[in-house]
Amino acid sequence: MRESGVGMKTLAIIGGGAAGLTAAVVASLSVRKARLGEGGSALEGVHVVLYEADERVGRSILATGNGRCNFSNSDISQGDFRNGAFVADAVMVLEDVVSELDLGKKRPRYVYGQAVHDFFAALGLEWREEGEGRLYPRSGRASSVLDVLRGACDALGVELRCGLAVEAVEPPAGLASKTTRDRGSRFTLKMADGSFERADAVIVACGGSVARAMLPDSFLFVETTPVLGPLATDARVARQLDNIRVRGTARLMRNEAQVACEEGEVLFRKYGLSGIAVFNLSRDAQPGDVVEVDLLPGLRDCDVEPYAFSRFKALTKIYGHGLTCGAYLRGFVLPQVARVVLKEVGFDEDAKCLKADVPEIMRAFKRLRFTVEGIADARQCQVHRGGFSVETFSPCTMEALKVPGLFAAGEMLDVDAACGGYNLHWAWTSGIIAGSSAVARLTGGEVRSFPASSASAGALVGGEE
Ligand SMILES: Cc1cc2nc3c(=O)[nH]c(=O)nc-3n(C[C@H](O)[C@H](O)[C@H](O)COP(=O)(O)OP(=O)(O)OC[C@H]3O[C@@H](n4cnc5c(N)ncnc54)[C@H](O)[C@@H]3O)c2cc1C
Repeated sequence: MRESGVGMKTLAIIGGGAAGLTAAVVASLSVRKARLGEGGSALEGVHVVLYEADERVGRSILATGNGRCNFSNSDISQGDFRNGAFVADAVMVLEDVVSELDLGKKRPRYVYGQAVHDFFAALGLEWREEGEGRLYPRSGRASSVLDVLRGACDALGVELRCGLAVEAVEPPAGLASKTTRDRGSRFTLKMADGSFERADAVIVACGGSVARAMLPDSFLFVETTPVLGPLATDARVARQLDNIRVRGTARLMRNEAQVACEEGEVLFRKYGLSGIAVFNLSRDAQPGDVVEVDLLPGLRDCDVEPYAFSRFKALTKIYGHGLTCGAYLRGFVLPQVARVVLKEVGFDEDAKCLKADVPEIMRAFKRLRFTVEGIADARQCQVHRGGFSVETFSPCTMEALKVPGLFAAGEMLDVDAACGGYNLHWAWTSGIIAGSSAVARLTGGEVRSFPASSASAGALVGGEE
């Protein structure tokens, strides 16, 4: 590790993923701005060190969006996030941070989340918008997002220390320390290899799965569960449809009441259900819930019967009295889907199709039911729900309320959202704020407090909210 000069302070960032890299870039920019303002050279004052357990930074970014990185969304609002009021307050501060660093224009507050896009534009990233407002780098490769972050880290002199896992962060003695060893006023990083490092401020950004172990037990923690993943269900029907993808509506039902509803892709697997619509439902699903897949979302319930009869009438002109149930569904859905759904409602595909039966057959496509057993494979989940309680961190700084100098960002905090670029948007947002605030803390700059019109104070944030 590079020796800090006399009076030089160290900001340690733990985790070189989405939030950590962003924090490192913004911290370095903030240092440069602070020093240039005082006529000093760019990186005197605070030394930014990023510790990454992996051999390289940003591997988690490369895996996102099927390798294309759906890094944000053009349509973001408070309601998209768990703990949305905390996110809304953070977004208000974000606008100021980004404009003060000259990375983007100051915009009206209702342009929700635009500051993140300004940040990436300032780093040189180009992108395009796809369905449902999803933003992807124009190159079509997640590596472009990582390239601009890593390039900025290099240019700004961030010290990247890869292959070094931090086991735990111990605040200065007396400040919520796990052990009461007297370490003076600095933070102690307990490294996985048994060594120790010191820092004057710390940003913890190592993702949701390892969050709990990183900070002292005194921090309020909401247990983490992997979400945004496939659901294991009763497999009888799903198994027969293995690998078939459909577009439809998936409703999550509990005691026959709807808990959540998603439109989009459903992928049947031998263990249950996958696909983006199901991933999103997994945020709320509990064992015993029912996922009801509607394969005909465009057909209202009241239109099912007329449609079934008109189709029957049309096909009897071709098949006459020889119309079978299988022939009735030919061209309507894949034969395999037809066979399975017919069996579900007790019809044989080779049996004669009777006019009186077709409403029931059609209705079956609107309500294919699967009982949830739980998350099918935690390794396929995109985020961890839970983390350090937002009640114990300031949304304006990402700083722990009771431990000055300790910051958290990204999935470490109890914030998550559905698929669509929102989770990365949160990682960038919280990383930008943490990076800027940590430097303000170390350089004696202004540490932000709640904006006067904060969402916590009941203000309107995020346009439609
Ligand atoms: C397959 C997949 C696809 C996804 N696709 C999308 C998408 O398209 N859009 C979207 O918005 N979200 C997506 N997500 C979610 C998104 O990747 C996360 O929400 C986001 O990366 C969280 O950022 P983070 O910085 O908090 O954690 P991470 O990006 O996970 O970074 C944490 C970093 O900390 C390091 N680390 C862990 N422990 C230690 C330690 N002890 N010491 C030092 N370093 C450590 C890790 O190696 C990692 O580099 C996807 C997730 C997955 C798994």
